Amino acid sequence: MKTWIPDNRNFAYLNWKQVEALPRETTLLVLPTAAIEQHGHHLPLATDTLINHLLLGRAMEELPADLLVYALPAVHYGKSNEHLGFPGTLSVSASTFMAVVRDVGGSLASAGFQKLVLYNTHGGNSSLIDVMARDLRAEFGLRTFALHGSCGANFEGLAPQERAYGFHAGEVETAFLLAAAPELVDRSAYTVNYIADVSKPELLLPENAAATFAWLTRDIAPSGVLGDPRPATAEKGERWIEEAATRLAAALQAMANYTGPHRE
Ligand SMILES: [Zn+2]
Repeated sequence: MKTWIPDNRNFAYLNWKQVEALPRETTLLVLPTAAIEQHGHHLPLATDTLINHLLLGRAMEELPADLLVYALPAVHYGKSNEHLGFPGTLSVSASTFMAVVRDVGGSLASAGFQKLVLYNTHGGNSSLIDVMARDLRAEFGLRTFALHGSCGANFEGLAPQERAYGFHAGEVETAFLLAAAPELVDRSAYTVNYIADVSKPELLLPENAAATFAWLTRDIAPSGVLGDPRPATAEKGERWIEEAATRLAAALQAMANYTGPHRE
């Protein structure tokens, strides 16, 4: 898998003696979690995994050299059952996904590590990540942190409709790949699909409403796209990558410096 993670921050490139020498209290390990799933007619199956490596790698480039932060090998397969029915989607069940995250966390805890970040870039995993962050804390005593997507980046220039409903293979994901891996984007194959209109709020919608229904992509998006990739450009992608990376780097520094809740 293509990666932007710097070699000197890639945990799996260390040997065990080097790992043994890492200080346990201060080393921050980051577990990327993503997906291999359909992303419309124009983006590759690995989009969420590539974006994870891209944003995390670019964030790591911004970290102070003496901060001990390493990326673990990614959990490539995610809970993608919303995208089943599109060939190429490779999904694991919630229990399988959580078991893998638990066992990786358990391995790190048994080696004495104390700080783990779950960095997730696939929406279908999000609720499982929040569950596992707490469970790893409870079961192994790991200080576990949850970090999602672009870490709340604002993405100036994104239209309100796309901001609300462009959440899969839309403008942002397409722009990221146009900037970082344009050879993987088929610009002749864009499709557009919105599941709701941001100017017409309703009580019951698939997303962003007071009441929601559980959706499968094939029910609401025949091409697999949820959003509009057409306005995406490499220039916007580069700007948004930079913005997300800066926020992620700040979050990673806060996690690396975190010493726990204050107690009386
Ligand atoms: Zn995606």
